[in-house]
Amino acid sequence: MRTISHFVNGQTLEGTSGRFGDVFNPNTGEVHARVQLASDAELDAAVQAAAAAQIGWAATNPQRRARVMFEFKRLIERDMNALAEMLSSEHGKVVADSKGDIQRGLEVIEFACGIPHILKGEYTEGAGPGIDVYSMRQPLGVCAGITPFNFPAMIPMWMFGISIAVGNSFILKPSEKDPTVPVKLAELMMEAGAPAGVLNVVHGDKTAVDAILTHPLIRAVSFVGSSDIAHYVYQTGTAHGKRVQAMGGAKNHGIVLPDADLDQVVKDLSGAAFGSAGERCMALPVVVPVGKKTGDELRERMVAEMQTLKVGISTDLDAHYGPVVSAQHRAKIADYIRIGVEEGAELVVDGRDFALQGFEKGFFIGPSLFDGVKKGMKTYQEEIFGPVLQIVRAETFEEALALPSEHQYGNGVAIFTRNGKAAREFASRVNVGMVGINVPIPVPVAYHTFGGWKRSAFGDTNQHGVEGVKFYTKVKTITARWPEGDHEGDAFVIPTMK
Ligand code: NAD
Repeated sequence: MRTISHFVNGQTLEGTSGRFGDVFNPNTGEVHARVQLASDAELDAAVQAAAAAQIGWAATNPQRRARVMFEFKRLIERDMNALAEMLSSEHGKVVADSKGDIQRGLEVIEFACGIPHILKGEYTEGAGPGIDVYSMRQPLGVCAGITPFNFPAMIPMWMFGISIAVGNSFILKPSEKDPTVPVKLAELMMEAGAPAGVLNVVHGDKTAVDAILTHPLIRAVSFVGSSDIAHYVYQTGTAHGKRVQAMGGAKNHGIVLPDADLDQVVKDLSGAAFGSAGERCMALPVVVPVGKKTGDELRERMVAEMQTLKVGISTDLDAHYGPVVSAQHRAKIADYIRIGVEEGAELVVDGRDFALQGFEKGFFIGPSLFDGVKKGMKTYQEEIFGPVLQIVRAETFEEALALPSEHQYGNGVAIFTRNGKAAREFASRVNVGMVGINVPIPVPVAYHTFGGWKRSAFGDTNQHGVEGVKFYTKVKTITARWPEGDHEGDAFVIPTMK
């Protein structure tokens, strides 16, 4: 069986911990590889390599660093099909969706290609007599990223794309569930001309994460995953003096006003709720129709739409979505459906019995629909992260606005309407970080930034865009005077600009 090893200092590093994790093909349910799980020693080897490489990399001029990014982009485009198939075979999402995963990461690399311009500092001439003040952004040193299973290409690229472009070296600890593509990305970064040690991949579980959070040479940690772990990473990392951004879970609502184009809404909702088997942090697992008529019509059309969905293996070009990532995750989703019934929601469509002929051991689950979901229910409060859509009915705009605003998560939200004034007011008042107006999955483009509110993000800096550049750099401000004559003034008084 294939073993997936760490990638450190430009080459494969065989693990010494003796611990391994199983990597499944969710289509077949079979273990298709095993991944090494790092101990402190392997993580330390990566940090030492990264620290040594960072000095020369930071001294490389930004234009040359940008050229590596341009070449990396070209290589990913060259290998797009193979990477997407590799990704699908471990994650389970359909190949077209895997290409989207890679493409959205690549857009951050495109942003990073402009780093010479973005890194330009600020300058004030004549801030005082003969005094000029300028500021510049410098890299932090060794940075690390810990990523979830659901976007094994995009999220690593959000992080290392910016971090490396600004002159840091990087250690990526990808999800142990689908670790092959992250290693491939690091290999391609070397092929693109990044020096060995600039991008390293260390596989592992909590042990590796803890080693990252406590290692004295790691300056900043970016995390994306579930909220409890995000919170733990934020607290532990900051307690060890690190800069930390930690993105967590989500429960995004789609608000449907009575004037919305329901045909379009149903198509959009179906893709946003069931696409990638609901395993997206920007999925729309909750729909809030406003008014009884909107709710009844939406439900009827959604049931019809769900009957057209094809669940298939990830290489099936006609499939709308594939299996979920693991047997445990499928069991967890089925359990939430059971709890939903127990707590009194109406299960309109039940996807639990779905099985795909010839792939009975695969981790498939059909789409499910609940109506009559209420605010206090556990299945409403918590993230299910599967192909389950919940209808939570509202009578008024205000009631609909309050639902996502008061929810513990605040990642994304969407409103569907033809009324510009209502949409504008909603976007302004809703207590959520990313808003879509007739856009079901409002993942911001790479030159804006990605980040939720409340329990969807800990720390105060978003991913990628200019916020990402700020996260991975520190500002130095220089106040300079070139004396022409004798020194004047009182050296014991705080300098003021006369
Ligand atoms: P997860 O929290 O289980 O794992 C994320 C990372 O943390 C992995 O690298 C994993 O190895 C590590 N980890 C797991 N258990 C740990 C522990 N006890 N201590 C320390 N580290 C640990 O998340 P997942 O299941 O891989 O991904 C799905 C979750 O990620 C969902 O909650 C989803 O909403 C969230 N997510 C959020 C965003 C966002 O930007 N807000 C984006 C994508 C996914």
